[in-house]
Amino acid sequence: MDFTFSREHEMLRNMTREFAQKELAPKALALDEKGEFIRDLVKQTAKLGLVGIITSRQYGGTGMGHLARAITIEEFSRVYPSLGFFFQTGQIGIYLLENFGSEDMKKKYLPKLCSGDITAATALTESGGGSDPASMTTTAELVGDEYVLNGRKILITLAPVCDLAIIVAKTGDKFSAFLIERGTSGFTTPRKENFPGLRGTPVGDIVLTNCRVPRSNLIGGEGRGLAVALSGISAIGRVGVAAVGLGVAEGCYDAALKFTKERKLYGRPIAELQAIQHTLVDINLEIEAARWLCYLTAWLLDQGKSPRDIGTEIARAKLYSCDIASKIALKTIQIMGGYGAITEYEVVRRLNDSIELLATAGSQETMKNTIGRSLIA
Ligand SMILES: Cc1cc2nc3c(=O)[nH]c(=O)nc-3n(C[C@H](O)[C@H](O)[C@H](O)COP(=O)(O)OP(=O)(O)OC[C@H]3O[C@@H](n4cnc5c(N)ncnc54)[C@H](O)[C@@H]3O)c2cc1C
Repeated sequence: MDFTFSREHEMLRNMTREFAQKELAPKALALDEKGEFIRDLVKQTAKLGLVGIITSRQYGGTGMGHLARAITIEEFSRVYPSLGFFFQTGQIGIYLLENFGSEDMKKKYLPKLCSGDITAATALTESGGGSDPASMTTTAELVGDEYVLNGRKILITLAPVCDLAIIVAKTGDKFSAFLIERGTSGFTTPRKENFPGLRGTPVGDIVLTNCRVPRSNLIGGEGRGLAVALSGISAIGRVGVAAVGLGVAEGCYDAALKFTKERKLYGRPIAELQAIQHTLVDINLEIEAARWLCYLTAWLLDQGKSPRDIGTEIARAKLYSCDIASKIALKTIQIMGGYGAITEYEVVRRLNDSIELLATAGSQETMKNTIGRSLIA
C-alpha cells in the first residue's frame, strides 16, 4: 500500500492543531513556570480519544494507529512540547501492556490508562549507563510464588507521578519485565529531577526495596524483559520523540516566521533580507526531511512492521529530528536577536525542551550505531 494520509488523519490534524491553539498556547508559559505534572491536560486529551490512540477499542482505546499518534504528538509539541512528551513516554507502557501483558492486566489497566485516570512509567535506565542496559544491577529474585525486587532506576519519565511502572530487572543472567503498582510495599519515588525543559512531564527515580510482586506480574515471560522493553522504547519511545523533536522545530520555525515578518530594520521587515531568508530556507528543508522520516516510521508500524524490522528507519527518524530540534531552536534565537533569549518569546524554552530529547529513548550516538551497523551489514 502507498503512503497516504486518510481523511481521518487530516481531521485529526485539524482537531489537534485547534486544541493546541485554544488550550495549550495561552497556558504554555504559566505551565512551564509552574513545572507540575499536567494531569488535567492528559485527562482532557484522553476524553478526545488521544491517550488511547494506539490501543484497541476493546481495551478503551480508539485504535487510530501510529501515524495518527505521530500527528498528534507533532501538533501538541509545536505549541507545548511537555504534552507531546507525555504521549511519547506515557504510551510506551500502554503499548507494552497491550502487546505483552496478560488478559487480566489488559482488562484491569488499559481502560484506566486510556482515560488518563492513571499513568504508567517504563523503567530501564540505571546509573551504570542507559546505553548499556545489560549492566543493570536491579534484581528480581523468585521466592516462593513472588518476585522480590531490589534496585534503583534513574531518569524515568513520569516516575514522580505514575500509578504503575514497568520495571526491567535481572532474573539470574537474563532480564524480565514486571508490572508494579504504586502503593506496593518497597516501591518509592524519592527524587524528581529539576530539568530546565519539558517541565510539565516530570522525570525522576524509582527505588525498589524488597518490593514483592506476584509471579503473574511478569510481562512477556521470564527472560524476555529486555527485548520486550526495547520494542516499546523503539516503536513508541523513539518514534514518539522524533515527533516531539519535529514539533519543537516547527514551533521555532513558526516563531521565526512571525518575528521576521514583523521586525523592521532599515525600513523593511527583516524577512526580506536574503541572509535571513537563507536561514529560514535551511530550517524549512530540515523540517521537511524530519517530517517524512518520522511519518515513514509511523506508517510502517501501521503496515504491521515490527520495531525490529524497521530499527534503522526508527533510529534515523529519532536521530535527525532530535538533532535539528536543538539546532533550529538556536538558529531561531539568533534570528530574533536579543528578543530570542527572552522566556516569554518561547524559543528559548524550546531550546530547553530540545536538549532533553537528545538522550531520551536512546542517545544520538547509539542511534548512529544502529544505522552504522545496517550500512555495513
Ligand atoms: C528527559 C529524559 C527522560 C528519560 N526517560 C526515561 C524513561 O522513561 N525510562 C528509562 O528507562 N530511561 C529514560 N531516560 C534515560 C535515557 O534512556 C538515557 O539517558 C539514555 O539511554 C542514555 O543513557 P545515559 O544517560 O546513562 O548515558 P550513557 O549511556 O552513560 O552515555 C554517555 C555518553 O556516551 C555515549 N555512548 C554510549 N555508548 C556509546 C557507543 N557505543 N558509541 C558511542 N557513544 C556511546 C552516549 O551517546 C552519551 O553521549 C530518560 C532520559 C532523559 C534525558
